[in-house]
Amino acid sequence: MARIRTIKPEFWEDEKIGMLSHGARLLFIGLLNLSDDEGLVRWNAMYLGSQLFMYDEIKSDTIERWMDEVRNNELVYVYQAGKARQTIAYIVNFHKHQRIDRPSPSKFPEPNPYDARVKNMIADRDKWMCHICGEEIPKNARADVCQSKALSIDHVLPLAKGGSSFFSNLKASHLSCNQGKGSKYYSTIDSTIDSTIDSTIDSTIDSTIDSTIDSTIDSALEREREKEKEKEDICRVSPEPSPASGDFSEFIAEFNRIRGSRFQAIDKVRRQFNARLKEGFTPAQMLQALETAMKDKYHIIEGYKYLTPEFFTRSDKIEKFINVNSSSPTSGQEITHAPQLGADEWMRPDGTRTYGTGSTTVPPDAPPRPSASWWWNDGLKQWNM
Ligand SMILES: [Zn+2]
Repeated sequence: MARIRTIKPEFWEDEKIGMLSHGARLLFIGLLNLSDDEGLVRWNAMYLGSQLFMYDEIKSDTIERWMDEVRNNELVYVYQAGKARQTIAYIVNFHKHQRIDRPSPSKFPEPNPYDARVKNMIADRDKWMCHICGEEIPKNARADVCQSKALSIDHVLPLAKGGSSFFSNLKASHLSCNQGKGSKYYSTIDSTIDSTIDSTIDSTIDSTIDSTIDSTIDSALEREREKEKEKEDICRVSPEPSPASGDFSEFIAEFNRIRGSRFQAIDKVRRQFNARLKEGFTPAQMLQALETAMKDKYHIIEGYKYLTPEFFTRSDKIEKFINVNSSSPTSGQEITHAPQLGADEWMRPDGTRTYGTGSTTVPPDAPPRPSASWWWNDGLKQWNM
């Protein structure tokens, strides 16, 4: 069922809208009418064509091209959900521009709010601001930054209180703010709402609830902000344990000396370096791996282009080169690892097995992984990862 929607004057000034072809722009306006009160609409060229361009003979290819334009300009977020894996588009700024007084419940399946793509889209939509404390959410705040600042998606009305996982009820927040949002916060609001509803007639509920919630939320937010301040202080005085941070610049300096290079000490590599130290590797082992790799025929042929600090702060690479026998393999000879290891597995110093980038620990009782191996082929070393 199509609905009345609002087009604000800003619509025409919006740069993303201006990027669209006229057809795509008309399609987008049509989506507003076709979407339900959660800003969701069936994302299907046949359907959209029949609803919006019923008097035109437009090929579905053309409709699809317009749909791509709208999607590629991030005006909609497309997801699949439900048993039938239905394809649904969410109009990203729907709730920013549409005032929905009495929303009808959506008939579409909910998105998965724990999906990384959904989380990122919501964070982008909310401009990476925490809706609880109002401060910025650092984009790189994953496990490596102080955890409390990491992105978390908050159900504004909690699931336990009947809140949905539709986008109107999902907002970006800091992990700590979301976790700190105790049941006290909600029970206060809920009891206020309940008593207000009881004593108010239908037509005035909306405005009363709005103002009551606003003032209750304000004081709740004030408490949340205080909590956040406390957490920040804790965070500041006891940062993530970073083993001997001075070691990293020394490592880079020594690396450059051996390699004859001028690599800078960058944060990404510093984090990798620190992660390796925690796993039990030493800077000396990483440098030893570099020295071994510099004698390697393949890397000599490649002009050492892969031999970067980033390369040697990966556990698979360190393992590979500190375990390599100094004699070069001969043509056609496959290199075999210790018998208990799979072809692409490596043993960490603590005896645990890993593979690939070394971020996964293989259970001790798992059979050896057979997939990858490396060998000499026509004088050039090749490998599968
Ligand atoms: Zn926050």
